Amino acid sequence: MRITRRTLLLGAGAGAVSVLLASCTPDPKPSPSPTPTREPQPQPGIPEPAARLRSTWATDPFAYGAVSFVPVGVLAETRTQLARPVGDRLFFAGEATDPDDPGTMRGAIRSGARAADELADPAEPGERVAVVGAGLAGATAAARLADAGLEVTVFEARDRIGGRVHSITDDAWPMPVQLGAWLFSEPDADLLSRLEGQEIGVIDLAGDQWHGPEGEVEPVDDQPLADAIAAAQAGPVDISLADALVEAGSDPADPSLAALLALLSTTAGADAAELSSWFPPPLPPAAVQGARDSLLPLVEDALDGVRVSLSTAVSRIAHDESGVSIRLGTGEALSFDRVVVSVPLGVLQEQDIEFDPPLPFVNRSAITGLGMGDIETMWLRFDEPFWESEAAVWHTVGADVGIRTWINLRPATGENILVGVVGGEAAADFAALDDTAALEAALQSLAVYAPAD
Ligand SMILES: Cc1cc2nc3c(=O)[nH]c(=O)nc-3n(C[C@H](O)[C@H](O)[C@H](O)COP(=O)(O)OP(=O)(O)OC[C@H]3O[C@@H](n4cnc5c(N)ncnc54)[C@H](O)[C@@H]3O)c2cc1C
Repeated sequence: MRITRRTLLLGAGAGAVSVLLASCTPDPKPSPSPTPTREPQPQPGIPEPAARLRSTWATDPFAYGAVSFVPVGVLAETRTQLARPVGDRLFFAGEATDPDDPGTMRGAIRSGARAADELADPAEPGERVAVVGAGLAGATAAARLADAGLEVTVFEARDRIGGRVHSITDDAWPMPVQLGAWLFSEPDADLLSRLEGQEIGVIDLAGDQWHGPEGEVEPVDDQPLADAIAAAQAGPVDISLADALVEAGSDPADPSLAALLALLSTTAGADAAELSSWFPPPLPPAAVQGARDSLLPLVEDALDGVRVSLSTAVSRIAHDESGVSIRLGTGEALSFDRVVVSVPLGVLQEQDIEFDPPLPFVNRSAITGLGMGDIETMWLRFDEPFWESEAAVWHTVGADVGIRTWINLRPATGENILVGVVGGEAAADFAALDDTAALEAALQSLAVYAPAD
């Protein structure tokens, strides 16, 4: 066994800190997806997959959604208000607090570094610090605070670290299944070089294909969307992306535009009718790479040497000028000097953590003002490929299907794996399906890619 700083610290801390005992007590588990009651209906031309796995972030009690977004009428700087520290005791991290790259791994990492620096400023060496949440933001904050000489304990509600980074290694799959973040684009250069350092493989998802019921169609141009945003940004009030398109003379229901907007919702988490045109999400990148291996080492590495208490939901955070009291789901209360709260926006919106005194108005209005969007994914492995396309990314145009965006892993890996990605309201609908209905919806969505007889 490799002796890491983490194992040494856990050994030294065991017995001394009641926190570690808390990790043995049960806490609320994510609710299982609805139980399937029947066999899926076969789809002509599409074989039954040999393995399948799906996400249900929309109903996950430790996320309540996938990524934050700026709804129409809300200022982007609301994110900075969400991040505002309270009384030099409470500090906030997490993708939703990052003004530049929300809804991404790099945004989460940067937010953790920012919150740690804010906390370290007023802190004295040796102070006891709690970090709530062991996703990328919490792990980054914890690592930085431990390096600054503070005594750090991370509380994580799940029985695993990583949060919305969730790589599943399973014998039924030739490569890890990624139910959360796993795609990178050009702005992720720093992150990609960290993956390289940790020998986490990355694949190029090169080439995309736009496909309708009658076969391949012309790629959809995103320039009209960019033009509509530019025009709306000159307007007197914020309007939704959908309204911006209408004002620019486009029809968001047009099959090509609808396909582009469906793609946008797979990264933004929300539909054009909800998204601000003054502060729009970035348009999906042209070139994408994906993780070939588990992303767990990325989070493990950050938490190396830090005491982590798994299955330990925090239910209440009280603070005054002398310090912070953290109450766990078990009812146990522990004292710290300061705390970094890195739970998802959805958890704050659901008020699953009580703050005493209540958070200042500015933080509370940021929590209610920002939106928590939905993205779901479904991984399907087939014994044999039924498709011929060598393109890595498929966009479905003009077919009324549940999942319009598919990633074909065959060209990059040789594996017969298709990954469906769906965002916005369609993702919330998809998450509400039981496993059989979700598989049926996925296979129906693939019907346009089955070979014609
Ligand atoms: C389906 C999907 C696909 C995505 N795809 C990409 C992508 O390809 N590329 C990309 O860059 N980004 C992607 N993202 C976004 C990315 O995953 C997130 O921005 C990032 O992982 C968020 O990190 P975080 O630390 O802010 O939050 P989280 O990872 O959610 O961490 C917060 C932690 O807090 C814990 N927690 C919650 N409540 C409590 C509590 N009461 N007490 C203690 N702990 C608690 C949670 O369990 C969680 O572990 C995707 C997200 C999803 C859901």
